[in-house]
Amino acid sequence: MTITDTHTHLYSEAFDEDREEMIDRAIAAGVKRFFIPAIDSAYIEGMYSLEKAFPENVFLMAGLHPTHVKENYRDELALVKEQLESRKFYAVGETGIDLYWDKSTLEIQKGAFRAQIKMAKQNGLPIVIHCRDAFDEVFEVLEEEKAEDLFGIFHCFTGTFEQAKKALSYNMKLGIGGVVTFKNGKIDTFLDQIPLREIVLETDAPYLAPVPYRGKRNESLYIVEVLKKVAEVYNVSEEEVAEITTRTSKEIFKI
Ligand SMILES: [Zn+2]
Repeated sequence: MTITDTHTHLYSEAFDEDREEMIDRAIAAGVKRFFIPAIDSAYIEGMYSLEKAFPENVFLMAGLHPTHVKENYRDELALVKEQLESRKFYAVGETGIDLYWDKSTLEIQKGAFRAQIKMAKQNGLPIVIHCRDAFDEVFEVLEEEKAEDLFGIFHCFTGTFEQAKKALSYNMKLGIGGVVTFKNGKIDTFLDQIPLREIVLETDAPYLAPVPYRGKRNESLYIVEVLKKVAEVYNVSEEEVAEITTRTSKEIFKI
């Protein structure tokens, strides 16, 4: 069985003490494909060394995280563009809008989101969307930018059934992570009405650990708890969920 973690920050400081062991135990459990979202230029080196250490398993994205869209965002975006021109990446992200941490940067967040959508289209890549307290704003940008060549993943999807259907209408798959295991997470109440081929699995490690690790450091191995819960919600085997979500991840990332 191959499980694909479509969103994991393996370069995070949270793993500085035990990164290799942590990745090895995930691989041993069948979690063999890790897609690594970017945050900003400060993390690029860490991402490259991760790829060097696990070339068969680690696939990098290039992008600027919405909470890191600051005064210097044009320089950061220029760097993302340069990266995309210089070598292979598997997606642009994570990008999007976050109004939980800072509402004052909405306009530049929107600008950075639009710019990254353009880069994704130019490079034939998917986008990985981060959306927190900002569904209307994200949908507004997607409505302007929608096109056949715009596709990707709505990462850590935590919206309503209506918002889920709307995300799918823009060629997005839903990234399902630890929240599906939370008692008050709500998405488990309608998820089975979304075809299984429209979702992918993720951890967002080191954040959002699933039950029974909720509140602790998350790691890619814990995706098996997400897998278990999703299998339960759809009433199919864990093997089937792993196979279908991995296949979808291959269609999106083309690897
Ligand atoms: Zn993330």
